[in-house]
Amino acid sequence: MIRVENLHKHFGGFHAVDGASLEIATGSITGLIGPNGAGKSTLFNVIAGVHKPTSGTVTMDGEDITGLPPHELFHKGLLRTFQIAHEFPTMTVRENLMMVPGGQTGETLWNAWFQRGRIAEEEAALLKKADEVLDFLTISHLKDERAGNLSGGQKKLLELGRTMMVEAKIVFLDEVGAGVNRTLLNTIGDAIVRLNQERGYTFCVIEHDMDFIGRLCDPVIVMAEGKVLAEGSPDTIMQNEAVIEAYLGR
Ligand code: ADP
Ligand code: MG
Repeated sequence: MIRVENLHKHFGGFHAVDGASLEIATGSITGLIGPNGAGKSTLFNVIAGVHKPTSGTVTMDGEDITGLPPHELFHKGLLRTFQIAHEFPTMTVRENLMMVPGGQTGETLWNAWFQRGRIAEEEAALLKKADEVLDFLTISHLKDERAGNLSGGQKKLLELGRTMMVEAKIVFLDEVGAGVNRTLLNTIGDAIVRLNQERGYTFCVIEHDMDFIGRLCDPVIVMAEGKVLAEGSPDTIMQNEAVIEAYLGR
């Protein structure tokens, strides 16, 4: 689905991504691991249109998507979540979900005046969708909670939920498990697997927790110093000499 070829992202003289090439197969849950500073988040940011690459290409289903802005990628079904959750803190969990889909009729004053009936219909459909998502993620009991009051793990679940409000094809998850307790991490893992199996989502997941990666991901891609160091099943990766060395430091 995604092919990254010889991608570079330089910040001044610093090569955060330094000639990375990789593929993400349709239907896979691909893991992306590597030591801190390896360039994983920067790679995500370039693929997801947050940063323009210095050079190199990104294609999606054969179409060149290099440097497209996030909203255009969003319409193609390419979504990302952030290492730091981006919720609207004073809105409820349910309202946060209802904020996601763009292009509602009620967005202009003109439409608001002339199409009141249709807006009510859309609102009702959105509400129903949000409740389905909350149910899927097993957090229906939190629907009226202000998002700012959620725990770190619950915010990550909400981020995942926001990807379910639209027709996503591929979702990039940056450290979904960071600072999340074991129980919630399992809930997040289960949601990812179910979205993959039942809704056909493709995932690319950055995560440090190797149990989580080992349970969910195949293949696993290892990055170090802006480059792809190795790729394979979780088991082969963990026995790879270069990978072990990259983690232990040189
Ligand atoms: P990872 O996610 O693998 O930990 P990052 O992609 O966040 O790594 O960062 C890779 C390197 O690029 C780090 O050394 C980081 O300091 C640097 N970097 C990331 N973003 C920027 C930026 N906007 N400006 C300058 N340097 C950056
Ligand atoms: Mg990172």
